[in-house]
Amino acid sequence: MPNPLYDELFARHAGSDAPFAFRDGGTLGYGAFLDRAARFANALARMGLGPGDRLAVQAPKSLDMLAIYAACIRSGIVFLPLNTGYTPAEIAFFLQDSGARLLICAPDRAEALLGALGGAMLETLDATGGGSMAAAADAAPAIFDTVTREPGDLAALLYTSGTTGRAKGAMLTQDNLLSNALALADLWRFTASDRLVHALPIFHTHGLFVAVNVTLAAGGAMIFLPGFDADRIVAELPRATVLMGVPTFYSRLLAHPGLTSDRTRDMRLFISGSAPLSAATHRAFEARTGHRILERYGMTETNMTSSNPYDGARRAGTVGFPLPGVELRIADAEGRALPEGEIGGIEVRGPNVFAGYWNLPDKTAQEMRADGFFVTGDLGRIDEEGYLQIVGRSKDLVISGGYNIYPKEIEEVLDAQPGIAESAVIGVPHLDLGEVPVAVIVARDDPAPAPETILARAAEKLARYKLPRRVIALDALPRNAMGKVQKAELRDRFRDIVG
Ligand code: ATP
Ligand code: MG
Repeated sequence: MPNPLYDELFARHAGSDAPFAFRDGGTLGYGAFLDRAARFANALARMGLGPGDRLAVQAPKSLDMLAIYAACIRSGIVFLPLNTGYTPAEIAFFLQDSGARLLICAPDRAEALLGALGGAMLETLDATGGGSMAAAADAAPAIFDTVTREPGDLAALLYTSGTTGRAKGAMLTQDNLLSNALALADLWRFTASDRLVHALPIFHTHGLFVAVNVTLAAGGAMIFLPGFDADRIVAELPRATVLMGVPTFYSRLLAHPGLTSDRTRDMRLFISGSAPLSAATHRAFEARTGHRILERYGMTETNMTSSNPYDGARRAGTVGFPLPGVELRIADAEGRALPEGEIGGIEVRGPNVFAGYWNLPDKTAQEMRADGFFVTGDLGRIDEEGYLQIVGRSKDLVISGGYNIYPKEIEEVLDAQPGIAESAVIGVPHLDLGEVPVAVIVARDDPAPAPETILARAAEKLARYKLPRRVIALDALPRNAMGKVQKAELRDRFRDIVG
């Protein structure tokens, strides 16, 4: 029975002894992983779940959770992973919104989540093969009839990160996931000999659909870590070939004295995404290790959209070219393509683009053009050589006295100052001008450089209207689990600072 996503990513490894994951406590081979997945598929069927049902998981990172993902794909159940940081009140919203039939959570969270269930069933899963769901799989047979699926059938419901507002459920089809996994595996030259250091969470598109699906597509292996730990990653690098990380991985690795060109000699690729990688980090990483980080761009709704090239120049501060099969345009507010080099909205069309927002037909209609392009909400420009440069989100754009101010341009100028480790520029309300830019910085040393010094230096590079009205020093920028700066939080906090 055809089930394209299951057949291409999973079934073809059936019976293989090749390693799928190295983790504390041993190696898990492909055959054993698929065997475990089949047991989960049977256990879920016994619980009454079938094609189209949503299964929500808020559980610690584990290979069993990936086996449940595989079981869902094989059974036609819609997989819905949830951020481990969500509170019971937030989980209640996701369960209600998605109509999930089952929630799988960590055993020590079960009690707190009882009130969040609505009509959903509850099972538990811990990080090491324990919990009621794992026990149900232990007791189930390893033979399962794959459920037939069409390329357009729903495979997963993945909520966006909620950076700009309430998280939205993105409906991802079999073909969205499969086309993207195959395109990336090819573009990044993944093979069965690869060993990917997996330190990302698996509730987000980056750690799940990029890292895991690309590994599966190539038949490679993962060095499966519970989370980011610089010591551990530095220790693993000599036996690994690829690292996928968010930008904070790279800045933290740079702060580790063990990161050297010697340690990274056998690595073939470092990939960054989910948030902007600063050009300064890109350069520092190359100076230290000799490797140029490959930055790519994507989002929950579109999977991956663009990537710097494997062979050609990987350009700091850009996210490269559209993936094969993906079309990208820079457009004005009405969706008309803008001339080359101009800044506008990034719009995407291709097999990677989702089927719409769950339960939000109006929102879907608003962001999907008649000709099939999806309005990403990010702003960018394409340079003469075709590289896409992201200048920020449209919701973060500062409009001051009628002028557009792109925060990224100011952040780059600030980040290049010796005393500044990182910065975030936000727009705050201003009576006369509507909004003015304000800079929030994290200093490299204590004390932070004086605001007047920072502004005097910035004034050498920036037009007057772009100069921040205030400079505020914080110990750290507020970030979420994916290293994304929470600008909405900063805007709230400093909304009255200028007046
Ligand atoms: P929400 O849509 O709920 O506000 P979110 O957009 O942060 O949350 P995700 O889908 O996890 O949710 O993130 C996608 C966004 O991350 C992109 O739209 C873009 O703004 C940002 N992003 C991803 N990769 C990069 C990159 N390489 N450089 C700059 N920004 C990136
Ligand atoms: Mg978004």
